[in-house]
Amino acid sequence: MAKIQMSTPLVEMDGDEMTRIIWQMIKDDLICPYVDLKSEYYDLGLQNRNDTDDQVTIDSAEATKRLGVAVKCATITPNAARVEEYGLKQMWKSPNGTIRAMLDGTVFRAPITVRGIEPCVRNWVKPITLARHAYGDVYKNAEMVVPGPGKVELVYTAADGTQERELVHEFDGPGVVQGMHNLDASIESFARSCFSYALDVRQDLWFATKDTISKRYDHRFKDIFQEIFDAEYAGRFEEAGIEYFYTLIDDAVARVMKAEGGFIWACKNYDGDVMSDMVSSAFGSLAMMTSVLVSPHGYYEYEAAHGTVQRHYYKHLKGQPTSTNSVATIFAWSGALRKRGEIDGLPDLVDFADRLERATLDTIEAGEMTGDLARITTLEHPTTLGTHEFILAIARRLEA
Ligand code: NAP
Ligand code: MG
Repeated sequence: MAKIQMSTPLVEMDGDEMTRIIWQMIKDDLICPYVDLKSEYYDLGLQNRNDTDDQVTIDSAEATKRLGVAVKCATITPNAARVEEYGLKQMWKSPNGTIRAMLDGTVFRAPITVRGIEPCVRNWVKPITLARHAYGDVYKNAEMVVPGPGKVELVYTAADGTQERELVHEFDGPGVVQGMHNLDASIESFARSCFSYALDVRQDLWFATKDTISKRYDHRFKDIFQEIFDAEYAGRFEEAGIEYFYTLIDDAVARVMKAEGGFIWACKNYDGDVMSDMVSSAFGSLAMMTSVLVSPHGYYEYEAAHGTVQRHYYKHLKGQPTSTNSVATIFAWSGALRKRGEIDGLPDLVDFADRLERATLDTIEAGEMTGDLARITTLEHPTTLGTHEFILAIARRLEA
């Protein structure tokens, strides 16, 4: 059978630990037998980031701007333990943080729902999509340990040299301080991405921050969303029969738990980070969630929302069997291939992405799954498969 041809390469960002092992299996068993894969390869494994002084991360983001579509494997964000483990030159920054800061935009995360894996919140009958702002706040902060008594101020120096000051705190002993920022332009593109996405999928959009406490910072987000909605989207939302509303994050959390799903929940960067982990876990597993960064300039980066599954990797290194769920990483690949196919006008590639996803879900619905799902499935007598066995079970269905 002739392989499906691609015209433009994907940006392929390889990663670390167990997800790096899965990455290779997905390529070998699920993609390369069917697709003549064209990719520009960047090794974002921690060793190579260290060897290249993290230049490879920047290069991969630049390549995404050039080629438009990327697929990324989970990567280690080093902490002190990793610096020692890998003998790092320094504690490199989070690659996701670097890439998102360069591409800007919004990360959309939606649960992958399948028969037999029911959300633990019983009233969630439809998926909840999280829209996470991908720029700024605590992810681009400046922080200091304050050694002792003294005054900390925010100082803004305008282009003409005039200054504005705001007291942060008058310390009478040691403590900590952090400064963070965001940009109107980035918040505007976050708002537009959310409104456009809501129209695309015809779902209500919720947006929540803590503007009662953060009266200027979070309030700015609220105002920008409202201004853009009123000026550009209100009419189209009405036509589509969908709603936009803003509420306090506390209220949103309470309402989400009582809702039936089927809406988009827009969150600031940090809220989106933790809330998407909560929502995906409640829908079944961290490994049952899609994640795509949509930049306002039309670049797409597909990834799995979970990490490198370190504990499974150490078992794998010891030669012990593992049962790591590859669904989110497979859907990162299918998402990227589908987008490439749509942009380049390659219906066969789009069709392949659909078939790969269908084969993955069919495998689970037939009772063949990894341990994380077997523990919670409502299907009777599931078969727990090892990491590679699960991928091979999908390959058999894809072949058929
Ligand atoms: P993690 O890799 O997401 O794993 C946390 C736990 O969740 C695992 O120990 C495992 O539980 C379960 N789990 C996650 N993904 C799974 C999968 N695909 N299949 C089965 N179980 C899965 O998070 P972490 O251990 O906190 O972080 C490990 C490394 O990942 C860190 O170095 C961190 O910097 C990095 N990280 C990267 C990204 C990214 O690149 N997108 C995101 C988050 C974290 P059990 O062990 O109980 O089976
Ligand atoms: Mg997270």
